[in-house]
Amino acid sequence: MSNHASIAAALKACTTVLISTHKSPDGDALGSQLGLMLALEKMGKTVIAHNLDPVPEIYRFLPQHKRIRVGKPVQGHYDAFIVVDADPPRTGLFDDIYPADLLINIDHHITNALEWPLTWLDTAASAAGEMIFKLIHELDVSIDQDIALCLYTAIFTDTGSFRYTNTTPESMKIAAMLLEAGADPWLVTENVYESFSYHRLKLLGTVMANMERSTDGRTAWVVVTDDLYQRTGTTSEDTDNFVNYVRSVKGVEVAVLFRQTGSARYKISMRSKGRVDLSVLAQSFGGGGHKNAAGGVLDGTLEEVTKLVIGKVEKAIAAQIRNKGTISDGRRS
Ligand code: 5GP
Repeated sequence: MSNHASIAAALKACTTVLISTHKSPDGDALGSQLGLMLALEKMGKTVIAHNLDPVPEIYRFLPQHKRIRVGKPVQGHYDAFIVVDADPPRTGLFDDIYPADLLINIDHHITNALEWPLTWLDTAASAAGEMIFKLIHELDVSIDQDIALCLYTAIFTDTGSFRYTNTTPESMKIAAMLLEAGADPWLVTENVYESFSYHRLKLLGTVMANMERSTDGRTAWVVVTDDLYQRTGTTSEDTDNFVNYVRSVKGVEVAVLFRQTGSARYKISMRSKGRVDLSVLAQSFGGGGHKNAAGGVLDGTLEEVTKLVIGKVEKAIAAQIRNKGTISDGRRS
């Protein structure tokens, strides 16, 4: 496997670079992508950022976000193609053939399949943004205010505002350096967490009013259907972080959000309080992610999909109880 030094050395020799990230990009995906784009441009490189899906409205304060090209096809051929914060297939832009001589993958998800020889995987990194910070340092580029804002947003959002267990002394130290370089923390908070539309909150109310839970109260879930989006004038962007409200219920070990993305297709978002490993569970139905936050996509009716996923979650919780005595013996990792 590669590291930031080998990737920096390879990048120094490139002139044109394409950077992409995963479908439905989040704060870490976009902050890492744009931060790296800006740094490589400071080195005089020609950089194109291209994603399958548009930048969600809450991230439209990020510097240069308008330059991210959206949708298929991707034009041109590049010296290097970098995929950040995801396995290469999760860009959703290509079928196996990639438009570059050098393929570089920078990710922190434990479920990464290590497909490309030049893969730098650091599962201890709180966010891909933390890795990009180290790469930029290795490239000898100074972090200006715009880069700092991108990388701070990446780390701030992926650590749940420095609340999750992936928050480390290292991520705090890097965040401090980003603040010193000029990142404005309130600009990030206001855009990401304090600018919700009226319709989003109406949707949240309806979704939470229909929350369900298992008999033992350890699993809880909510569903957002196309019909609900239409009735409330919302889109999937408006459901960001809904699953965290479900996890916040006392006694809930695992929370699940089912979002309809097609007539018989659902996107699954799962969150754990730390005792059930969701990365393994998500892989069992073709998804991936981290121990405490993972997801995937499943085809089927709502009934089929909820039955399958909730069944797997309940089995995983039961196995945890068998291994550890009672679930309250578990410790967060
Ligand atoms: P979210 O629920 O926020 O969409 O995703 C939670 C975590 O799981 C994120 O780190 C995300 O990148 C990962 N994840 C979500 N869906 C998928 C998927 O279909 N495949 C993989 N490999 N990871 C996913």
